Parts: sequence; structure tokens; C-alpha cells
Amino acid sequence: MDRSAFDLAETVRYSGDLKYDSVASSRGVERLRNIFRHSGLLVSPQITPGIYSALSDALQNLGILELTPDAFVYSSPEVNASCFLGDEADFIISMSSSLVTLMKQDELSFVIGHELGHFLLNHSEEILEKDELRTLRVKRAREISADRIGMIACGSLETAVRAMMKTVSGLPSELIRFDISYFASQAAALKEDKFNDYAASATHPSILIRTRALINFANYFNGDRFEFLARKEQLDKMIEADFRKHIDGCIVRALELQDRENEFWRFAAACLENGKFSKGDQDKVKSEFGDGMLEKLLNLLRDRPVNEVREIVSQNLHRFT
Ligand SMILES: [Zn+2]
Repeated sequence: MDRSAFDLAETVRYSGDLKYDSVASSRGVERLRNIFRHSGLLVSPQITPGIYSALSDALQNLGILELTPDAFVYSSPEVNASCFLGDEADFIISMSSSLVTLMKQDELSFVIGHELGHFLLNHSEEILEKDELRTLRVKRAREISADRIGMIACGSLETAVRAMMKTVSGLPSELIRFDISYFASQAAALKEDKFNDYAASATHPSILIRTRALINFANYFNGDRFEFLARKEQLDKMIEADFRKHIDGCIVRALELQDRENEFWRFAAACLENGKFSKGDQDKVKSEFGDGMLEKLLNLLRDRPVNEVREIVSQNLHRFT
């Protein structure tokens, strides 16, 4: 298969969207395809020509010329689209009826392009981190990459942002004035939120943050890949800072805490290796991790033999690695 679309996708991959090498199996996709054949409508030039054109435009703009994935529309009040990955040339796209009804053809090309982006960058569920928080961060970062590819697929920042405004609101064109700079200024007005309920669990960054990231991308990407690559680090750093401030802050702090605790248990394991917790080691724990942590370890040792404490320490280590 021609690699140029994959190369383009790699060029614009957002730095937080870590790359994993893995081959997804196509068997699950075949089963899903069968389910969708029964429960959805296959997008085709004969039956859904407008939707098919949106798909064709996205494929063409991304340089995917040898492959037309099966895309299905299913009936649902939710505004939703997904991509299910099989092997390198096999995947399917699903779109809810509400989403398709809401979008104009070029906006649909953005949505489809976004889903094609998940395919081109191999955003498989199977290859995520074992750790839940790290997984959440990678998932959110993937949306930024996919949006970039969606924008290339529809050929316009404005179209991309219109599609995102419709997705988040569920409103049709008639009820929206597409004032992108006003919308973007809402993102600029966001306050840092340390205990943001949205940020704690959302797998997708909010549309405001995604819009801001996309506006920045559009400022940096003019189609010239080499020029873009030279400035990409600067762009991604800016987006990372936004993520940290509004989306990932609590995760980053939790991960730092987790790493620190892991360091403590590793240190404790090393101290207890020779079967005792000497005064020198106690001083080291105190100076490295503070009184509270020393107290914690001493309490553990108070009524238990060292062997048992070593076992507890090693269990804690496993919990965090
Ligand atoms: Zn996505």
C-alpha cells in the first residue's frame, strides 16, 4: 500500500500522541462489519451519494488512493463517529445518523478525516499503557493528531471548527453564527482549574482546547512538510502547556505523586535488603522523603518481622510499576 498518507500523518502527529508498534488483528473488525451490515447502512454512491462524496474527498485530500473503507451510518440521537482498526488495510468507520444529519458535506469530510487519522496513526486500543492515567493522557493527545488530519482532509480550518462547534452543541447551521475568533476567545478566557471534574476523566480534550490547538496548527502548517517539521516542536510545546493548564494538570500531578511514591518504595526495599533498618538508613529516608514517610515505614516495621514488611514493600512496588 502507498505509504504517503501514513507519512503525512506521522509528520503532523502531536508529540503527546506516543507511537506504539503493534499489529491489530482484523478478526474483531470482520465481526463488527457483520454487525454493522445488519444494524446500519453501508455508505455507497448508489444509496448515500452525499456522504460517499464526503468520504471520497477526505480520502483524496489525504492521499489515500488505493483504499475505500467501509463506512456505516447507524440510527442514534447521539452525535458520534468512531473508527475500528483491523490490520493495515482493514478498518471501518461508523457514524451516527444525528452526526451525519447535522453536518454539511465538507464538515463531514473533517469528521471522516479525523477518523481516518486514527487509522493512519494506528490508534489501537490494544497498545495503550498499562497505567490508567497515562492511558488517559495518550488518548487525549490522539485527538489532537486526529483533528490535524481531519483539517487536512476537509481542507479548511473554518470547516473543521464549524464541525467541532456542531459536534459539541448538537446544533444545526441555522442556529449557529460561526464566529471562530469569538469562539477561540472563550478558550483564551479559560481559567486554570486544578480540580476540574471534566479533566479528571474525559477521554477527549474539550472542544475549546481542541479548537485552540487546531488554530495554532493551521498557523504552523501550510502544506510544506519540511517547513512544518522545523517548527513542530515549538507548536507542540505550546499545546502541551495548554493541556497541562486546562486538561492534564491533575493527571500530571497524580503521576508525579505516583512516581514519587514508587521511588519511596524502591528506596525502602533497598534499605530493607539486608534484613534490618539501620539508623543510617532511617536518616536517609528522613532526608529524602521526610518525617511522614519515615514514620510510615517505622510503623510498618513495629509489629511485623522484616520479611513480612519486605513483602508489603514489594507489593507496593508492583502496584506502581
Ligand atoms: Zn477521535
